[in-house]
Formats: sequence, structure tokens, C-alpha cells
Amino acid sequence: MPLPAQTATEIYNAAFNAGLRPDPVLTVSEWADRYRRLSGKSAAEPGPWRTERTPYLREIMDSLSPSSPVERVVFMKGSQIGGPLALDTAIPTVEGWTTMGTIRVGERVFDENGHPARVIAVSDVFFDRECYEITFSDGSRIVSDGSHRWVAWDDLGTGKRRLVKTTTAAMHPRHKAGGRKQRNRFAIDVAGPLCLPESPLPLDPYLLGYWLGNGNAVMNHITIHEDDHEIVDHLAQSRVKVEYRLPWWRKGRAADLLVDGGRRPERLEDGSFGPVAVAEGETYFMGCLRDLGVVGNKHIPAAYLRGSFSQRLALLQGLMDSDGHICREGRCEYATHTPALLHGVYELLMTLGLKATIYRRAPQRQVICGRPVQSREGWRVSFMVYDDIPVFRLSRKLHRQVDRVGRRTTETERRRIVSIRRVDSVPVRCIAVDSPSHLFLAGRSMIPTHNTEAGNNFVGYVIHKSPGPMMVVQPTVELAKRNSKQRIDPLIEESDVLRELVKSPRSRDSGNTVLSKEFPGGVLVMTGANSAVGLRSMAVRYLFLDEIDAYPGDVDGEGDPINLAFARTRTFSRRKVFMVSTPLVAGWSRIEAAYAESDQRRYWVPCPHCGEYQVLKFERLRWPKGEPQKAAYHCIACEQPIFNHQKNAMLARGEWRPEAQGDGRTRGYHLSSLYSPVGWYSWERAAEDWEKAQKDVERLKSFVNLVLGESWQERGDAPDWQPLYDRREDYAIGTAPQGGLFLTAGADVQRDRIEVEVVAWGRGKKSWSVDYRVLMGDTARADVWRQLDALLDEEFPHASGLRLPIRVLCVDSGFNPRITYDWVRQHPQASWGPAGARAAHPKTAVAIKGTARTDRLILGASPVDASRRRGTRLWMLGTPVAKSELYSRLRLAPPTEESGEPFPAGYCHFPRYEEEYFRQLTAESLVKGHWVVAPNRRNEALDCRVYARAAASIYGIDRFTEKHWRELESLPPAPAAQPEAASAPHPRRVRRLTVRSKWMQN
Ligand SMILES: [Zn+2]
Repeated sequence: MPLPAQTATEIYNAAFNAGLRPDPVLTVSEWADRYRRLSGKSAAEPGPWRTERTPYLREIMDSLSPSSPVERVVFMKGSQIGGPLALDTAIPTVEGWTTMGTIRVGERVFDENGHPARVIAVSDVFFDRECYEITFSDGSRIVSDGSHRWVAWDDLGTGKRRLVKTTTAAMHPRHKAGGRKQRNRFAIDVAGPLCLPESPLPLDPYLLGYWLGNGNAVMNHITIHEDDHEIVDHLAQSRVKVEYRLPWWRKGRAADLLVDGGRRPERLEDGSFGPVAVAEGETYFMGCLRDLGVVGNKHIPAAYLRGSFSQRLALLQGLMDSDGHICREGRCEYATHTPALLHGVYELLMTLGLKATIYRRAPQRQVICGRPVQSREGWRVSFMVYDDIPVFRLSRKLHRQVDRVGRRTTETERRRIVSIRRVDSVPVRCIAVDSPSHLFLAGRSMIPTHNTEAGNNFVGYVIHKSPGPMMVVQPTVELAKRNSKQRIDPLIEESDVLRELVKSPRSRDSGNTVLSKEFPGGVLVMTGANSAVGLRSMAVRYLFLDEIDAYPGDVDGEGDPINLAFARTRTFSRRKVFMVSTPLVAGWSRIEAAYAESDQRRYWVPCPHCGEYQVLKFERLRWPKGEPQKAAYHCIACEQPIFNHQKNAMLARGEWRPEAQGDGRTRGYHLSSLYSPVGWYSWERAAEDWEKAQKDVERLKSFVNLVLGESWQERGDAPDWQPLYDRREDYAIGTAPQGGLFLTAGADVQRDRIEVEVVAWGRGKKSWSVDYRVLMGDTARADVWRQLDALLDEEFPHASGLRLPIRVLCVDSGFNPRITYDWVRQHPQASWGPAGARAAHPKTAVAIKGTARTDRLILGASPVDASRRRGTRLWMLGTPVAKSELYSRLRLAPPTEESGEPFPAGYCHFPRYEEEYFRQLTAESLVKGHWVVAPNRRNEALDCRVYARAAASIYGIDRFTEKHWRELESLPPAPAAQPEAASAPHPRRVRRLTVRSKWMQN
């Protein structure tokens, strides 16, 4: 039938009534509140994004909206202790989840058998550790430290398996075994079910599970097949009334269950509606659903994932009776289109000790009744379970569950390790629990901090509302890949609007890869600041530079990576650049420099007592010494104490106020972790961390960077030589005191001499200068180099009676590279691999060259280049890093005699050297980011010490674990020291020591 003619107005009105209207002009924060969902897989607080939770992010995000005239947004932030890239391993706790970064002593986690265990110790955060990414056969991944202990099944290949205790690093080289047909050698037991007591849950878990599957998302109706009439009986066990109906509007054989149909719940004597707050006129059932936050937002509430075993099983039965299937072999599947339910069901199965695998079904075009229909994306959670755990109540499904007898049950109860891959080091920490095995459950993937999510909202907004070419830059390509998989993929998958716009990389014509996502009107490219090629790849309108203080100073010889990235935005007049970082060292910090150029906004919040607006400053946080739990913030105006729980109300009324003029196009925001919302990083915790950081420069530095979000001020002026001279100690020059456990040396080459310092290193990187020598002679001739040979061959007496060799000697190649390479080549060499530096042989010689880079101490080694460097590697050193470190350590005061305390970590000990040594050691100072030598001072001693420090790093001191130190300390006393022809020139020969020895074996 032809449609009657319509006027434009009628068409418009009809469309309007049908809900079609132009999208309002949204800002990024409004977009996030409407469309953003935080993944249950990757967020600390999953569910819809709420800007009101972190009100200070609103203006920052909205500056990134196209409607804002701001071109560049700089966000200098504290990270909630632990750093943004790391400590993100999720740990299930009795209450829910926590992360390695935030876990505290006393929290209740689970041991490997699922029994609650208490955390009894939490270590410091370790940097520069060997880190590995382990992938399991069910697709789950975890990043672990090389020394993390596992109890694993070792498949010996003869059909035999044995249970071994091993570490990640030990499994790494051996995890694939066998010849052409490789097998995965190691497997880990699936954790047992979590053992938890009955929880007071408002709604029967079976009913909730059944409603989550088949229920109407906003009404008290559940659709069932009329054959499944028995559901009524199963639901009768719950506290609500269920009516079975065959309504007139039904299609096919569908029936309808009306839960607690339309009646108000009975009031209790006190006038309330029982345990749940129920709106007037609402049924008890709907009131419960609303209170659980599942109406229009189907997911499994956290409390239901931490009920007792039978409560969790009942929930699973409800879910499986509605949306579950079982095939003939007894394999079970739960199918859903809702990502939140997918993750909930996966976690539920894990808490029941069942191993599950997730399969995704891409949206497909089908033709149904002659019409093309696009099916939705969906997921199946597949798991194997035997009839000793009934996962259904519905008899037609239940009776298909199979018996355990005669089946290969091991496959369902173990997760094989399918790959172990060395990855960039991330900050890690260890915890100890009071379970018999001291093992605990860790799992899931990344948990981003909320602050980082502002950038992800920017990405989502661009894809959906303001498409154009966009680039996201992480410090390295490796991190860019991780960020893509662990943050960007969930961002897209969990948002209905983004999922439709970005094709899944798994569909064949998607044009999408890990580092590139196409969408209508634009493309999102992700790269690392260490790749000049990546940074030059295309012109972009939107640029998101994340964690810029971790970027290298120079990329592939093409200059500053940030300038390289900026250059890509020039063609766009309406460009947006978002720069985010936690600042590191002052004077070197990129984010600090960018903030200084901006209008320098700080977040002002009102005092709850007197209303005075102020910026939160650590100085105003006060507590009695030793009692950080009593910390309170003191108002700058009325001096009244403000407590952590009052913070949210202050944040909600806060406002950003600029403190500088700026260039008009750049806005800068500075925010410390003192502003973390209630429930996250608290003031008490900040006070506690501050107390712990005392007496240790490194920790104090982390505190200032990570918590306060400020750069660490290396004091510009050099330490004074006089106090160092005055505190010299009485050990003999040429000997190593008891605490010094291994020796390294650094040699500075001049035209007419080589100066060498030998340094002993001990726990906490404490150091003792053992000897300082000046070898005289023209360095273009062999004689002085023979003296260096002799010194390298010398073994130095140790307080224990042992004699110690120099493990690694670094020689400055800057003065005469050719001769230095010639000399180095005749000694054992250090190697450089994905694991960093290795110096397996004692008396290793290394050619080193200082650079002005500030990101790392050892930057790497050149490949062996036979033509130019005669077959030796040249090692690069970040000289400013080493000098800053040394100077902060020279400032450490020795403990007073009466305190009886040990020397602080990093303390430098010196024997009775001449004044000149100390003058040289302190000859340079940092002026506006540059190291300058004071007039009329020489600096060879400083250079030697810096090279000796680099040598210690090459030997591995920055990676040492407790085990290494203990090994160094626990050596048996040596036999009587061998007489040594130390002064005689040693014949030149290449020493090839084959023993990867403990150091006393020489
Ligand atoms: Zn006040």
C-alpha cells in the first residue's frame, strides 16, 4: 500500500517521536558518561564511567573536545603509588579484587587451594627486574618477575609428569620441548574453588542468574520455553513469588514468568520494605535488582562472586539453565552478547575452580526470510565439568552431564604454559602470605589507574564523535602493543558505539592490527617513542603522548621524539595534543618543562569547615610520628583538621585555577595523589609511605615523583668535598671491607696517563672505594696499557681473608677509541641481550662512552662491528643519571654512633685518600640541566667512579635479588691467600674462563 503524502514537518515529527534526533554537541566528559564502560577485565571499578567519581578530570577531558579552543593539554600527575605501567596484576581478595600495587599487609587473599590467606609482608617496589609475560592455554596472561615461584607439572615427554617447584626464569628457556613437534612442557594446576562463608545476599542467586540470562532487562518478566515449566519449581525455592503464564501475545512456544507480579512488598513492622530499600510502588524483586545496579546493566554484582560455594553454584545454575548449553561429550557453554556478563561468568567459573576458555563470534551477515540481517557480536564461555558438580537444575540439561570415570580429567584441571616471553621491565613487588605453601592466586590482566583513563576517553571520543587521524605514543613499541591489547581493545569491545565503528582485527577485511585501528573518517595509530619510523608514519590531527618522562632523549639519531611527533600535527589547524606523565628528575623532566610553558593550573578545593579554597600540599598533612593512621589535613585558613573521608565533597566543589599567563593555547594541569578519591590512595597511606621513605634517597625520590607528582630536585650545587674528607674511614687502601661483596673498576684515559678507581659493592648498593691509581705513560703506546693489564689481573684482599678479582672494568673510549678497543678485545667480554647486560667472566673489560641521555644508566651496547671497532662492543652510558645518583648518595649522612643504626642504602665509604680525590669527585654541578666542571678543578675521580658504577650495573647489581646477595655473602672462607705477582707485567693473552663461576673460584 502506498504511503499517503506527508509534509516535511510530519516526517520530521515522526522521526523525532521515533527517537531520531541529531546528537547534541558532546564534550569528552559527557561522551564518557554516556558511552564509556570500564571493562570488568581491566578496571578497578568496572561499570559505566562516572566523571563525578574524579571530578577534577572533567575540565581536563573537556579541553580535549573540539569545541574548546585549547590546542595543547599538559597533565602532570602523581600516579597512585607504583607507577602507571605496572604493579597492575590483579589479586582476588575475599572482598573483591586488589592489585599488587595497592595490596597491604593484613588483606585477605586466597592461597592456591582457594583458602583465604592473610598477607603478612609486602616488599618494596623493584625496578629493572627481569620480567616475563606468560601465556596459558586458556588464553589468560600474566606478567611475572623472573624469580617468581611456581608449582608446575613438568612433562618429561615419556608420558610422565612430575610436580616441580621452579621459577619463571628457570622455565623460560625450557618451556618448549621435543623436536619438530614441540610440546608445552609446563602446566599449572587450576586453582581450587574459593572457600568462603555464606553471604547475606538480597536475592536468591539462582533467580538472579536466571534473570540475567532470560529476564527482561527492565521489567519483572522472564521469558522461558513452555517445555521448561519446571523452572517454576526451581524458582519456588527463592524468596519471591513466581507466576507461570501463557500470555495472548506469545510467539511460538514461549511462555512468561511473572516474578513477584506487580504487588507491593509487605512492610515490616518498622515500616521498611525488608533488607532492601524499595521505591514506593516497586516490587521487592525489582527493588532488589535496582539496588544491585543490574537494571539496564546486566552483570554479576561483586557480592555474588564472593558468596559461599553453594551460593555461587546456584548462580551458575541459574545462568546455565537460561543461556547455557551442554553438548554430547559433556562440554558446557554459556553464550552471551553482553561483555560484562562474559567477564562475570568467567570469573564465577574461576571461583568455582573450573577452567574456562572464551570464544568470540564476530558479527555476521545472514539472510533470514529473504532479508539481510546483521547478527551481533557474541561470546561463548566454554568449560568442562563432570557430574559431581551439577551446573544445571533443568533436568533436560542436567542429565547430559557426564561422569568423571575414564576421562582425561587432567586437561580440564591444568592450564598449560604455551609461551614465556621476555618483556620490558615493569615495576614489580612481592607479597608473602601465611598459607602453608606461601603461594597465592594472582590473575587477570592490567588494571589501569583512573587518571590514565582520561586519555582513553579522548581516544573513544575521537573514534565516535570527531573522527580524524590520531596517534597514541607510549615510551616503547613494546608498551604500545601492551597498551593496545590491554586498554584500547577493552575500550572498544566494551562500548556498543565503538564496537560498531572499529572492525575486529580478527575479521579478515578489517584492515586492523594491534598497532592500527581504522574507523570511518579516521585511523588510530599506536607507536613507541623509541621508533622514529613509527613517529614519522603519518600526519595526525590528534596526538596523545603518554608517560613522556620515560621517552628516550633521542630516537634513532633523529632528535627528540616529541618534536618528531609534533611535526606530524602541523598540517592540521584544529589539532589537539594531550601530554601526560608522572614527572621524574627535575631539570630533565619533559612534563615539567611542558607544564612550565602552560598556564599552570592547580586544583583548588574548599575547606569543609571554613570554605577557604586551597591547593592540597603535603606539608599540611600532619600526624604524630610513627602513627600515620592518624594523619589529617590541616586547613591553611582555619587550621582545623580535615579527614580523608571528607575529601569527595571537597573534590566535587573543586575548580582549576591558572597560576600563569601561558601562551594562550596550552593548558597545564598538575595533580598529586593527595587528591585521590575516597577509597583509593588515602592521606593515611601517603603519611605511611612518607615515613617508610625516610633515610633512603631512592624511596624519597619515588615518593616525590609518584605520590606528589613533582619532579625530584637533585640539588644543583655539588656536595661539599670537606665533609667527605672529614668522614674518611680507617680501612687499608687496597683492601675491601667486610660489606663489600664484589669489585668493579672504572678507568679514565688521558693523553699521558690512565686513572683507575677500584670499588667494592655491597647490599643496598653501598660502596667502598678500594683503591685509586694513576698509571703514568703515553696512552698511544703499549706500556701504560700493560700496567692496566696487570691491575685487571690483580686480586684484592677482602676482610674475610678471601681475595677478590675485579669483575668488570669499564674503560673510557672517548679519548682514543682505536687503542681502547684493541686493549679491550684481549680480555673477556660482556654480552648484551634481551635480558640486558651479562658479564659471566671475572676480569671482564668493557669499552664505554658517556652520553648526555637521561633516561637510563646503561643504554645498551653497540653490535659487534669488526671493521670499525675491531670486534668489540661499545657500551653507552647515561652519564647524567650516574652523576645525579652519585651526588644524592654522597649527601647521605653516616648514622650517629649512639644510634647504632646501619649505614643507609647507597652510602659511599672512603679510605684515607688525599684532599685532591674528594675535590675531583665533587668537581661538577648541575646548572639548568647541564653538568659543568667548576673552574680550576679536575674531574677524573668523578669519571672513574661513574665508570665503576656502570661496571657494577653491567655485572648486574641493579637486578640483584635477595638470593644473589645471599649467595655472595654465604661463601665459604677461602684457603690461605695465594701469593700474587701483582706488580709484574702480565703476558697479554685472552683469558677464556669457561666456568660461570661463583666469584671465589678464581
Ligand atoms: Zn578551614
